[in-house]
Amino acid sequence: MILTPENYYSLRANQEFFSVSQVKQFDSCEACAMAELAGEYVREKTVALLVGGYVDAHFSGELEVFKSENPEIFTKKGELRSEYQQAENIIARIERDALATRMLSGEKQQILTGQIAGFPFKAKLDCWLDEASAHEIAKSFPEMGELFFSAGAIVDLKIVKDFVPLYRDGEGRLNFIEYWSYDLQMTVYQELKRQQIGEQVPCFILAATKEHVPDLGLFQVPQSLMDANLVLLKDRLPHLADVKVGREPAEACGSCDHCKTVKELTGAVWLEEYV
Ligand SMILES: [Zn+2]
Repeated sequence: MILTPENYYSLRANQEFFSVSQVKQFDSCEACAMAELAGEYVREKTVALLVGGYVDAHFSGELEVFKSENPEIFTKKGELRSEYQQAENIIARIERDALATRMLSGEKQQILTGQIAGFPFKAKLDCWLDEASAHEIAKSFPEMGELFFSAGAIVDLKIVKDFVPLYRDGEGRLNFIEYWSYDLQMTVYQELKRQQIGEQVPCFILAATKEHVPDLGLFQVPQSLMDANLVLLKDRLPHLADVKVGREPAEACGSCDHCKTVKELTGAVWLEEYV
């Protein structure tokens, strides 16, 4: 199928193509990912997601559509809820910064498709800076000199709680980009763009925080990290693809919202064994 802004998030598109969010969903619970693909489970719209969506919509010029599709962001009196008023502060903070504004000046919500390890993938870029725009930025900001030599750049906008490292069992302290797998997202975007234009381009996360006074940061994802991510992704895609078409059983995590919903009691648990 040909992907358009209207069908990009459809079930059919998700069945035909992998995406980073789908891979992350399979990684956290295969049974839940399959239920979502079958249309039996719909992910909850969290406030955190909606705040990010609000800011994205502003910069892609789709804020009015976003407001009409998400009436829950308004109070009964028709005023913006406090979280989205904060989103307005974040937007103002980003727009007050010259480099941030330039980094977000490219083409918005570009849809890309391609193949990774032979499996169809889709992606939607927050912002694609073409070669000319990248060169202009390098001219104005000497620290961005690398952009002189690139065929463009990929910029993703992230709204996060703060920039404090986060802890994950077995992995220790991780920066927020790796903790939330934004680096995996950039890996896939870079690879699909490479397939389209024949060149690898640098990838940036432009992030702002939801703190009382929003912080702002521009982070470049290291190429070595993306190279390693791509190898790991190619390794595990055949298994995910087998699960996706039903050739292998989907493993249930037992603790996500979907698993709790379909849980059926078959007997009693001995309290001594319950840890
Ligand atoms: Zn689960």
